[in-house]
Amino acid sequence: MKIDGWRIGKVFGIELRLHWSVFLLAGLIAWSLATRIPAVVPGIPVIYRWLSGVIAGLGLIFSIVWHELAHSRMAIHYGLRPRKITLFLFGGAAEFEKEEFKSPKEEFFISVVGPISSLVFAGICYGLALILEAINFPTGLVYFKLATILSLSWLTVINFVLAVFNLFPVFPMDGGRVLRAVIWKFNHDIVKATKISVKLAKIFGVILVLIGYLIGGIGNLLWIGLIVWFFIIPAAEQEYLATRIKYDPDFREKVREMIKERYQKELEELEKLIKDN
Ligand SMILES: [Zn+2]
Repeated sequence: MKIDGWRIGKVFGIELRLHWSVFLLAGLIAWSLATRIPAVVPGIPVIYRWLSGVIAGLGLIFSIVWHELAHSRMAIHYGLRPRKITLFLFGGAAEFEKEEFKSPKEEFFISVVGPISSLVFAGICYGLALILEAINFPTGLVYFKLATILSLSWLTVINFVLAVFNLFPVFPMDGGRVLRAVIWKFNHDIVKATKISVKLAKIFGVILVLIGYLIGGIGNLLWIGLIVWFFIIPAAEQEYLATRIKYDPDFREKVREMIKERYQKELEELEKLIKDN
């Protein structure tokens, strides 16, 4: 899957890019919060509802960058070279110069640090909300205080959800990678470990969609189902293929033969076409 975006800067030498769809995500969040807040705080002026929504939307983008940067920083620690992070509608994607884990331990820590960082960020948002709550604001700023506390509370929940969602063992999501690393550690075979992880990803993918449905109804079913079937499972299959080509010499030879055969056939057909005309 190739997603481009606008370059917005560099952190740890990694390029940060924003795909336009991330604004759709932030906008949706801002709008949905701004319209729901009156149920929690009756009488809150429209401007403060939108302020709260916009802080939450931008905070969500920051939460995703924070999560991806944690992966990238750990990857740098292990000598991998993250090239860029692209943010889009469904979150973030980090791209590496050469995507290859040298050991299960490496994959385990690079993967697990993302959800852990989201938990830490949830804690930070919660702490900030508590601090704001304790500070006495002048009367004119009471709604400002409320709006900010609401955004921070929402960001606390969303970062917690982000951590739990990503820890679900659906390869190649973080939890799925953690699982592959554990299987790889025990069977010393990255190809077989990936095969098992892809199979489990399909089972846990269905469970994840069902849990989403039970918690959030049909909207969640469609949303998570879309992510799982159109992004996660194809990515898992693709990575299994890449892993086999990389680590299984017999399979690599077979693929090479297949490619040769196919081109041979096409060449013969072309030659025939030239002769006939
Ligand atoms: Zn992650």
